[in-house]
Amino acid sequence: MPTNAAPVMIKPHIGYFPGSVNIGLLLGDTGAILIDSGLDTQTAKKIRKGLDELAQPLRAIIQTHSHADHFGGNAHLLTVFPEAVVYAPPLEEAVIRYPILEPVYLNMGAVPFEELTNKFLLAEASRVDRLLPASGEIEIDGLKLDVLPLPGHSWQQVGIVCDNICFAADGYFGADTLEKHKLPFLVDAHETLLSLDKLLKTHYEGYVPGHGPFERSIEQTVMKNIRWHRRILEKIEEMLAEEECTLEHLLARLCGELQISIGNMTSYVLYRTALMGYLAGLLREERICYRFDANRLLWRKRT
Ligand SMILES: [Zn+2]
Repeated sequence: MPTNAAPVMIKPHIGYFPGSVNIGLLLGDTGAILIDSGLDTQTAKKIRKGLDELAQPLRAIIQTHSHADHFGGNAHLLTVFPEAVVYAPPLEEAVIRYPILEPVYLNMGAVPFEELTNKFLLAEASRVDRLLPASGEIEIDGLKLDVLPLPGHSWQQVGIVCDNICFAADGYFGADTLEKHKLPFLVDAHETLLSLDKLLKTHYEGYVPGHGPFERSIEQTVMKNIRWHRRILEKIEEMLAEEECTLEHLLARLCGELQISIGNMTSYVLYRTALMGYLAGLLREERICYRFDANRLLWRKRT
């Protein structure tokens, strides 16, 4: 779904540009504030057109996390609006300034293969001017915003709350996105579930996720996310009860079971990292363990 140049307004000063990545829009005292900037220059041009139609200069971009599809529009927008201030959470900001870090970590720290340097994994670099606090209130262009820590999908991802509307980033996925991805990307399943529990306890007037529809209540969607992750964790645990597995073997078995067919390097590294995130969660919860045998790292269920 391409990003729409016309924003959907939820309140007179709060809205979003709907698209495959939703981009939040807040209207401050002197101009617009974006929450994330989408995938690329093409998206950024549509956003710019939307801002021009609203006669709003861009004052700030708040990054929720450092995935390429959430900050790839920065480079173009900052050329057009050089005075705009970019905010990002600590650690995430490092990847936004040095985007090569994303394909590097996905490639186990080694130099990324050519195939991994596509725009979905490698965005253009952007400056970051200010660090967001870990949580609590900040004021930008006269608007009081709450920073809601939502780690798990990315290390220090945050949601942003403005006037009771929550921009939840990839803290949860819309139901269709979950069905499509099957094995959702995350770096820590344990933290992901804690963040989902946190969202479940909130009662804001409305929620805009990074991927999915705007909803007044997210109870059902968040419950679906929780059940989805728990089912995957249980599946992994069952597989590791049946036999000890290397990461590679486990990935093949799990993808087979979830009817995922990996056909390119990008999907492979994303699914492999997600599986590692689930294993990290299970390990932290002391549900699995590992040992080394014949120079192989073998995972198994804890008895
Ligand atoms: Zn993301």
